[in-house]
Formats: sequence, C-alpha cells, structure tokens
Amino acid sequence: MAKDNKNIKEKKPKFSPYWIYGIILSLFLVFTLFNNSGLDSGNTTNPTQFFNFVKDGEVEKVEIVNRRLAKVYLTKEASQKEIHRKSKPTSFSLSAAQIPNYRFEFGELEIFQNELNKIIEEENLELEPVYLTEENHLADFLIGILPFVLLIGVWIFIMRRMSGGAGGGAGGQIFNIGKSKAKLFDQNTEVKTSFKDVAGLEGAKEEVQEIVDFLKYPEKYTTLGGKIPKGALLVGPPGTGKTLLAKAVAGEAKVPFFSLSGSDFVEMFVGVGASRVRDLFKQAKEKSPSIIFIDEIDAIGRARGKNAMSGSNDERENTLNQLLTEMDGFGTNTNVIVMAATNRADILDKALMRAGRFDRQIFVDLPDVRERKEIFEVHLRPLKKTKDLDTDFLSKQTPGFSGADIANVCNEAALIAARNGKKAVDKQDFLDAVDRIIGGLEKKNKIITPSEKQAVAYHEAGHATVSWMLEHAAPLVKVTIVPRGRSLGAAWYLPEERLIVRPEQMLDEMCAALGGRAAEQVIFNKISTGALSDLEKVTKQARAMVTIYGLSDKVGNLTYYDSGQNEYGFTKPYSEKTAELIDKEISDIIEKQYERAVKLLEANKDKLTELAEVLLEKEVIFKDNLEKIFGKRPFEKEERENLDK
Ligand code: ATP
Repeated sequence: MAKDNKNIKEKKPKFSPYWIYGIILSLFLVFTLFNNSGLDSGNTTNPTQFFNFVKDGEVEKVEIVNRRLAKVYLTKEASQKEIHRKSKPTSFSLSAAQIPNYRFEFGELEIFQNELNKIIEEENLELEPVYLTEENHLADFLIGILPFVLLIGVWIFIMRRMSGGAGGGAGGQIFNIGKSKAKLFDQNTEVKTSFKDVAGLEGAKEEVQEIVDFLKYPEKYTTLGGKIPKGALLVGPPGTGKTLLAKAVAGEAKVPFFSLSGSDFVEMFVGVGASRVRDLFKQAKEKSPSIIFIDEIDAIGRARGKNAMSGSNDERENTLNQLLTEMDGFGTNTNVIVMAATNRADILDKALMRAGRFDRQIFVDLPDVRERKEIFEVHLRPLKKTKDLDTDFLSKQTPGFSGADIANVCNEAALIAARNGKKAVDKQDFLDAVDRIIGGLEKKNKIITPSEKQAVAYHEAGHATVSWMLEHAAPLVKVTIVPRGRSLGAAWYLPEERLIVRPEQMLDEMCAALGGRAAEQVIFNKISTGALSDLEKVTKQARAMVTIYGLSDKVGNLTYYDSGQNEYGFTKPYSEKTAELIDKEISDIIEKQYERAVKLLEANKDKLTELAEVLLEKEVIFKDNLEKIFGKRPFEKEERENLDK
C-alpha cells in the first residue's frame, strides 16, 4: 500500500487523558505533604541516640504517636547545644515549643517502652511518655479515593488501547471509537497498483473499470434515464485477486477511495459498528463522488437471525442493518459506490445482495490456463530468470492454482534458486517450487523402515499403474516416495480443466485413487492405513455423486444440496430408509471401483512390480519411466502430449 496513505482520523483529539495522570500525581504529592508527619517534622534520629539523650537528661518530653512514632522534645539547655542546634526546623504555623526536636519510628512498642523505662529507673528521671493518637482526615480521604482514581485511570488506558489510540500519539482516541477506520486514497496518495498489475480477469476488470467510469462521467449514463449502480460485490475463491482489483481501482480512479475490512466495524462495544458505518458513509458523501471498498464483507454481512437463541450476534446485526440502511438511503444520486469482496457469497444476507444495494456481482474465478500464463508473466517481471523459461509450460503445470499461489510459486522459485547459488531462476526451480507448495517440505531424513518404504513404493506404483490404464483418469506427471509434509509418497497428476464432469470420469478417478490400496492387496495380500487420504477423497466423491449430483441409479435424479443453506442442520432432508439406501449406494460404488482396480493390477502385476522397483531405486520417476514400462498411453490426446514438450 502507499506509504503516505492518509488516515481519515485526521481531527486532532480535543481531549487529553494526561490530566488523569496529573491528578494521580498531585494526589500522591498532597498525600505525602499532608501526611501526619508533614507540618511538625523534626529531624530524624534513631532509638539508640534517643536513649543516649535520655541518659544525658536532655529530653524534656517524649510523645508516642499512633503506637509507632516517637516525637522528642529536648530541654531548653539541650536545645542550645551545638549538636542539637539544627534539630528544630522553623514553621510559620507552629510555635517553637510545638515542634519536636527529633522524631523516629521505633518498631515494636513494648520493647521500646521496656528499654525506656529501664533507663528512666536507672537514671532516676522524671520522664513520662505521652501517648497520642493523631488522625489525618485529608490523608484518609485521599487514601479512600485513590483506588477509584487508579481504577478510572486504568480503564481509560485500556479504552485508549482498544480504540487504536496507541498509534495515534495523542490521547483521546476513546472518543473516536465510533469513527470509521477506513483508509483514504485520493489524489494526494500514491497508489502504485494499476490495472496493468492485474492479469487475466478480463470480465471482472471491465466491470470494475466501468464503475470508475460511472463516477467520473455520470451524465453519460444518466442522460438516458439510467441510474448509477450502488454497489458491486466481488465474489470468488481466496487469492484470486479481488483485493488486488480493488487496489487497482484505487490506483486508477481519480476519486477518493475509502478502503477498510469488514472486521474493522467490529468492536467489543455495542453500537460502535453501526456508528462506524454511519461515519464512513457520511465521510464518503462529503467527498463524493467516491468509492468505498469493504474487504471480507462476510465479517458483518453474514445472514441475520439464523440463530435466534444466542444474543451474541446482535451487534453484528445492528452493524449490518445500518449498512443496509445506508446503501438504501433516500438519495439515489449520492455518487458513492460501494465495492465489497468476499469468498463466501453463499453466507451473505439476502437483503445485502439484492439489486439496489449490490446491484452487480462480479465473479472472480480461479484462473484458467491462459490467465495463469498472464499472471506468471506479471510475477516473473521482477525475477532474474533464464531466457528459455516457458510460461506456457508453467501455466500448464499449475492447474487449480490461484493468483496468490502463482505469486507464491514465483517467489519460492527465486528463493530455491538463490539457495542453490544460481545466477538466474530456471525451470527446475519452478517445478521444485510447485512441488514444495503442493506437497510441503521434502523430509529426506525421515526415518522409514525398508518394509515401509517398499509398501509406499507399491502403493504409489499402484496409483500410477491404474491411472495409466484408465481413459478418464488424469495423466500422471510424477511419482515420488520421498516423504513430503505429512505424506510418505505421492503420485502427481495433471487434471484436465473440466467445466462439467461425467460419471465415467468420476469413476475412473475413484478407481485410480483406490489403486494404491489395491496394489498393497495384490502384492502383499495385506492392506494398511496408508490409504487414509485416498479413502477420504473417494468417499466424498461417491457421496457427492449420490446426494448432490443425482448420479446414482438407485437414489435417482435428485439432490439433497441446498444452495441457500450450508449444512443440513439437525435434521437430514431424507428419511432413515433413504439414508440407508444412500449409505449402501456409496459403499457399492466404492467397492466396485476397488474391485476394478484390483483386477487391473492383477492383470498387470509384472509391470506394477517393475515400476515399484524402479521407484524404490530412483525415488522419483516421471512419465518417461512409465512409458518405458507400459508403452505409450493409448488415450493421450494430442493436446496432452504437447504438455511436457
Ligand atoms: P482473499 O479472498 O483471500 O482476500 P483475494 O481474492 O482478495 O483473496 P488478493 O489479496 O487480491 O486475493 O491476491 C493475493 C495476491 O495474489 C496478490 O497480491 C497478487 O500478488 C496475487 N494475484 C492474485 N490474482 C492476481 C492476478 N489476477 N494478477 C496478478 N496477481 C494476482
């Protein structure tokens, strides 16, 4: 973000809480000053010296105050002595006789009394201690209120911290708590992101560009009677460039751009969210034409009132209600457009999504192969790379990657190249980076027994063999038995980017996923826990076939998927009988594919063994190794064959 972005909290706080520290300090000083020893204080001494004075007959009177303090008054003659000269300070309010020459705290009263009495008896003196109780009302009062003052001080301190006052320097932020926390980008702020930095996303870019246009030249659109849209919602999976798109708008639109995140409205105090929304719109209207961008709007825009039992959502709902009201305000020509981004459009409140509020929904999907190429080009710009680096190849190797993933691959590749002391980043660094991102860090030193290693090799060879044999299974890229992340081995495929999937394609993929366990069964006649993630994937897929896509003959052409609701809730939308049927159907589908995988591997046991042996020896094998063993894959399409060129 721009370095000098201007915070909207510009107004200087009118109130400084430093007065509270001042009060505490003055109370403390006053308390010390007026402490019962303050006005009539004599010089301090200690009990030993005092007893010497007594022995010498120099003490005229001794007062014992509050059972802890002794005030010593010397005789006139003694007071004249050189050593006692300075013992009596002068006071405006008290006469000399009222001021003690010395004072000291003696500790245990009884011990002091005994010692004093002993000396008086021995020396035969007529000294009689006077016992006094002195009360200091002012001090008592101050001590009484001190805890409250401290409490208020601490409270104010905490409130300041919570309202972000720490960064503000000057105090008084507590009174800004209801103010919006949006960052403002305008002509004075330098935003470096532009539409050039957003690769792909043609449709989305166009729509967003049009929004900027609406604000700049409203007459162009309103002369024909049209109204300017109020809002646009950017929806899409994480990392696809929604925030980037908004930043580009900030950079390109020469209108004030207020940017904040949904969670910025949320505070632990009731009413703050709504007040911040009001403030945000007020500021945006003052600077209109302007754009407001709310990132991760699901933090406040979640559907209201689903859970009536808990009152904890009230504050969020108030905030949302305020947002709805502001977006639907009376003035249609306020020239404020609200942009928002979310990756959970399904959970947003329907009222928020209706036309008139977010009139436009811009879907920002995962990039396809062409878009990935463009994104690679954007992120390769700052890297020092080898000349022959082929972005087509890289984009084909990264199906399902988001823009953020690609940015990460480029960065990771540069780091890997630097680690290996290279002068430029090459193709292998990118492949390693992709592996690293998909599979996690290689753990070459993980302790693994030979028999475990063998099991892993056969398991992975099983996947590779089955997928090689099936028409619709994804083509294999590489197989490894080097432990990575949490897995002991992996077979990597290049899935086709399909928009619709047919049942035979799903079944082939399931069969390939079960190939690992089937290989263990065929070779060792034993199975293991190693197939957990395969089983999880297959079970999910089979359940989706039956309950979501209506691809099961027995359950029929129906779906239990409800796009308006995330989960079934407490009740399943089908009877117990149907539940049994669904379970049976899922299990049948999986078992059938498992049998199919076992049969395939039994028929090709020798090739499977050969592949596993190569794998054990080399640890990582590629498509070429498989071709050597199995011959050319019969179903390879022209396009797929070109992939690895
Ligand atoms: P989320 O929903 O998780 O907030 P997002 O969709 O807002 O994610 P961004 O924050 O915009 O994602 O993207 C993250 C990073 O990914 C960007 O900073 C950028 O480096 C990169 N990126 C994503 N999409 C693109 C793209 N189309 N072109 C160039 N870079 C992209």
